Amino acid sequence: MEPQLVIDALSARPGGAAVLALRGPRIAVVGGFVRDVLLGRDPREVDLVVEGDVRALAEQIGGNVTHHAAFLASHVSRDGLELELTQARRERYPHPGALPLVEPASLEEDLPRRDFTVNALAVTLDDAQLRAPDRALEDLGARRLRVFHDRSFIDDPTRVLRLARYSARLGFVVDHNTARLASEASLDTVSGARIAGELRLMLEEPDPVVPLATVATRLQLSVDPSLVARALALAPADAERSLTILAAVAREAPADWLDSLELTARERAVIRSAEHAPLLAAAAVAARRPSELRDALRDVPVEAVAIAGALGASEEARRWLGELRHVKLEIGGDDLLAAGVPAGPELGARLERTLRRKLDGEIAAGREAELASALGSGA
Ligand code: ATP
Repeated sequence: MEPQLVIDALSARPGGAAVLALRGPRIAVVGGFVRDVLLGRDPREVDLVVEGDVRALAEQIGGNVTHHAAFLASHVSRDGLELELTQARRERYPHPGALPLVEPASLEEDLPRRDFTVNALAVTLDDAQLRAPDRALEDLGARRLRVFHDRSFIDDPTRVLRLARYSARLGFVVDHNTARLASEASLDTVSGARIAGELRLMLEEPDPVVPLATVATRLQLSVDPSLVARALALAPADAERSLTILAAVAREAPADWLDSLELTARERAVIRSAEHAPLLAAAAVAARRPSELRDALRDVPVEAVAIAGALGASEEARRWLGELRHVKLEIGGDDLLAAGVPAGPELGARLERTLRRKLDGEIAAGREAELASALGSGA
């Protein structure tokens, strides 16, 4: 394995030269960046581990710097460079599933506290030397995920979810003992918020369905790959991809479990709408005209409409999402006020009825026809 490749990849990054010019304590690039370069993959974020204070180093690079004092970490964002600096530490878990208590330590002590051996490779910047804990290189060569010790999933059960994510993304096998330990680990000790954090990372993967299916039972999800694919194909550009997938797989999950995950209000609302997707699909299919399709789908988040479409209302979902939801009147309340309609519910009702006629093709195009319709005796 050629550590210089890692240094070269770092220097090719925007702002990479500034990182390599850092002076101070011993610094190493670590984790996914090293793993991915050595695998010939395109690495994502740059993680640095530092034997000493990270604040001063982060400030040396400049840009947008955020410090997380409790985690002995800083984040730098500068001209396309996203850099996570973490002080080398040893960790102690006060109880299973808790966030670890950390204290400064050497790089050599820091590496084996990580989740999997292949994520614990580091290259020190001053001498371009590879630092690899026992078996890390062997596991990388064998394309294998292995935890460092038998308590790893007890200390931090979110690693069970990380295991599924890396295994799917990298196409790595899971070491036999690691697979057994993961299957025996319980997620019960971890906060819902941390589980949701890992779930979101999974949803952001290029292909989230495989890792989601791996952990479906544990997370009380129902993963139907073809349903997810159909929903994504119907989802419009303004739908959030990860939210469409989340709602598709979590729509049958028990409410108290979803509540425990402390999802955002938006995530929870979209899942709640998706719970009703079969009914929405039936109502959409039953709609006889565009205004009725609007009645069925107007207040439904686009992600949930896509799921309803995937459940049997594909034509209706496509028409609503692609065309009908964008239909607006050219006139507004001001036009009716100016024409003498008093302010109040009657005004809104006239606009609503006019929009329905427009959707159903009952009035000619243009402001004049809309105004005539809104002011007409039948309106
Ligand atoms: P990615 O390619 O997804 O960015 P990464 O390996 O860089 O992968 P991060 O989540 O950015 O992943 O974490 C950086 C490093 O921190 C990991 O490579 C791993 O060594 C360590 N790490 C992160 N989360 C944990 C955890 N829960 N337990 C132990 N080590 C962890």
